Amino acid sequence: MTDTPDLWQLDLGQLTRQQAERTAARLEDSALTVTLFEDAKDARLWSVQALFDGEPARPWLIETLDLPGLDNREPGRWLARLQSKDWVTESLKELPAVSAGRFYVHGTHLPPHPSPAIIDLTIDAGLAFGSGQHETTRGCLLAIDLLAKRRHIARVLDLGTGSGVLALAAAKIWHGQVLAADIDPVATRVARDNARRHGEHRLGLVTAPGFAHRAIAAGAPYDLILANILARPLARLAPAMPAHLAAGGIVVLSGLLKTQDAQVRAAYRAQGLVLWRRIVLGDWLTLLLRRAGA
Ligand code: SAH
Repeated sequence: MTDTPDLWQLDLGQLTRQQAERTAARLEDSALTVTLFEDAKDARLWSVQALFDGEPARPWLIETLDLPGLDNREPGRWLARLQSKDWVTESLKELPAVSAGRFYVHGTHLPPHPSPAIIDLTIDAGLAFGSGQHETTRGCLLAIDLLAKRRHIARVLDLGTGSGVLALAAAKIWHGQVLAADIDPVATRVARDNARRHGEHRLGLVTAPGFAHRAIAAGAPYDLILANILARPLARLAPAMPAHLAAGGIVVLSGLLKTQDAQVRAAYRAQGLVLWRRIVLGDWLTLLLRRAGA
């Protein structure tokens, strides 16, 4: 037996954006991870999830967060114990490998693919999104595979890199210049470790929201921009896309549901970017866009 403390999860819903951002900021120093979610149905509502190493004191949380009515909310509904960390680690070992086109993504508990024709990516599920299990990641890997059959791409930008999985896939396939960015410093740290594991020391990594980093401007224009984020942030990124895209460049978008297709596409059409290919996996869409008339 180990004496690893249990993980506790705080989950607060029905917040305004301002409340959610303030709550996240107040938890930043004490929690292992803090994540903000926009409600899928009502964009005015937000929730905050945080993970703690051991049980945080409820009175301390109530005082620190200072949210109206928190002391009246039933404690078990917003703060609960998760499985022990050992159990979480154990359960990650159950994750199967994922194939997408010529890519094979697996955790360190599984051996690499035996075929030299396959591009093997070793990514452990952890604090950053992108172990290959999700339809949106697979959709983007399929998009890279599709592009690889048709064009050579020299410069790639991966916005919202998470574990770095897409940036690594692009680096392995084109051996070009790849810059990866994430708003979350934990993700960029995980992506850096993953890049090292794959011997990709040249992969650029920055922590920034959207395009807001000098290195992103300096590396433009890109032949390929990958962004697996969510429908709303994708729509917000649209106006800055053309300025960062090379002539004939491609934008791959994922993280949107089938029902959000029209909304996201309209935002990009307004910037002169139109649909070239569409990959549907379950409820999720991956869109490949190119400049109109190109
Ligand atoms: N590219 C990976 C991870 C996608 S998850 C994959 O395809 O599997 C989405 C990532 O986008 C998260 O790591 C999140 O932190 C990041 N993100 C969310 N909003 C962002 C923004 N505005 N700018 C940059 N990164 C963002």
